[in-house]
Amino acid sequence: MRVLVPVKRVVDYNVKIRVKPDGHGVELSNVKMSMNPFDEISVEEALRLKEVGKAEEVVVVSIGPAKSEETLRTALAMGADRAILVETEHSTEPLAVAKILKGVAESEQPGLIIVGKQAIDDDSNQTGQMLAALLDWAQATFASKVEIGDGKATVTREVDGGLQTIDVKLPAVVTTDLRLNEPRYASLPNIMKAKKKPLDRKTPGDFGVDTSPRLKLLKTEEPPGRKAGVKVKSVADLLERLKTEAGVL
Ligand code: AMP
Repeated sequence: MRVLVPVKRVVDYNVKIRVKPDGHGVELSNVKMSMNPFDEISVEEALRLKEVGKAEEVVVVSIGPAKSEETLRTALAMGADRAILVETEHSTEPLAVAKILKGVAESEQPGLIIVGKQAIDDDSNQTGQMLAALLDWAQATFASKVEIGDGKATVTREVDGGLQTIDVKLPAVVTTDLRLNEPRYASLPNIMKAKKKPLDRKTPGDFGVDTSPRLKLLKTEEPPGRKAGVKVKSVADLLERLKTEAGVL
């Protein structure tokens, strides 16, 4: 079985995000970019499936600017076999990404696509679900455990009330949640080796997809700053303030 893993290049999760002075989006120049953390979990899961003999090949794909090659190289250094870069300078919305991934899936014929549950830049949480719908494949979202059986995957999902375990027929789309695994670090020798691994270059046009934006960004603003705390003199004082100032009692 081949496993396809989409990986997105996003602002590193440690970076303090700054809104652009014109209020349209966030500052991306001179900002550290990394692989979306949920996608690191997906790559790790695909590699583990390969290590236990449930998958033969792990293919990673990224849709984005030329620099997304760095993100793909990181996935290759973790252990993926080959990479596909679908290059576009447009910011990519989930529907366009899902349509491109559908095209990639049709040519690569994976048995499983492991998608992150959400990209931490736009927090859409849409791509995996849209991709499963476009392909008319089964989907198991927010996975915290994946077991591959005969023609099916048994997936434990993180739902509000606890954990839910479902069987989905393969091929399927699985989206990863935080507790699925702990992604490995790429070792220096593997980072060197990854430079020579195959990377195929495509454009959205190769899949007949137009990536021009369909959503209109109205404005971006910083969340309101937190107010300073106060020290209360007694429990009675605390209760009084919770009633009169905070209005929570
Ligand atoms: P989203 O629906 O935007 O929150 O993204 C969910 C997941 O879809 C991400 O974790 C990635 O696995 C995948 N994805 C979204 N955008 C891209 C992209 N431009 N390139 C590759 N994968 C993507």
